[in-house]
Amino acid sequence: MIESFSNNSRVLLGVGFIFLLITTESVIVASPNHTLNPYYSRTDTTKLHLTDAEWKRILPPEVYAIAREKGTERAFTGKYDEFDGTGAYYCAACGNALFRSDAKFASSCGWPSFFEPLRKDGVLYRPDSSYGMNRTEVLCGRCEAHLGHLFDDGPPPTGHRFCMNSLVLDFEPDVQGKKSGE
Ligand SMILES: [Zn+2]
Repeated sequence: MIESFSNNSRVLLGVGFIFLLITTESVIVASPNHTLNPYYSRTDTTKLHLTDAEWKRILPPEVYAIAREKGTERAFTGKYDEFDGTGAYYCAACGNALFRSDAKFASSCGWPSFFEPLRKDGVLYRPDSSYGMNRTEVLCGRCEAHLGHLFDDGPPPTGHRFCMNSLVLDFEPDVQGKKSGE
């Protein structure tokens, strides 16, 4: 009797341990970059004003280099450049909803490109005259992360091309007809 109880306990412990492993694994897969970032939220739209030192502490180095130091990933290397999943793209620094896949188009420029943002105030614009060019910088409307640039050679209906860096975007697919980001 005692022996069979102890065997059952062992089985239960084993099942519990496997369940724990699976749960831990799925959490890590779902948010690979945000475990150190307490400000990341897909629902909170409160504007963030953090110091660069704080951003450096909570963002992966490759995200920090683009979001806060206005870097650019090498053309044709980004994970969303030739990606056509159906869903929404969120700011990798703060979780703000930025673009829907419906507005993504194949631009062949080497970076993921969209013709319009998900919400008008989801992004901010700033004149950028760096590198001897007059361009319009696109920033996240919630945390002011640098996302990329805006050009006027996009397709209808807007004619805009939001040329973005994959590294500062997180893609979330639609699930069972529920549109991500809306
Ligand atoms: Zn952001």
